[in-house]
Amino acid sequence: MDREYTKEQWEQERELTLRDTPVKCPNPKCDKLRAYWTYTQKAVPMYCMCKFCGFWQAVGEKPKRCNMFYHECPLPNPRKGYDWNANDSCACQTCGQILTNKVKWPVDDPDHPFRKL
Ligand SMILES: [Zn+2]
Ligand SMILES: [Zn+2]
Repeated sequence: MDREYTKEQWEQERELTLRDTPVKCPNPKCDKLRAYWTYTQKAVPMYCMCKFCGFWQAVGEKPKRCNMFYHECPLPNPRKGYDWNANDSCACQTCGQILTNKVKWPVDDPDHPFRKL
């Protein structure tokens, strides 16, 4: 799927998500509310991401789909061993292990534990 993502749109969605008002994920296959949020960080000041289908888009860029990874994390893990980014590997945010085991996003996996969140 494709869509344009403008600064104005991000600002509008940012305002809603900061007020804890869910915004619908742009992926038509994804109907999970409260999984799509706006984010800001130094390298990418304006972007959005959906933790249910992996949709990711920065202002002015084309949408991407991130990869989701899983491992049996040895530490108490707030993401239940799952992590994600747009590359072919990902460092676990809890234990730092490099993850390469790609798994399906909850939108494509009826048994995914994130469905119960
Ligand atoms: Zn989604
Ligand atoms: Zn870990």
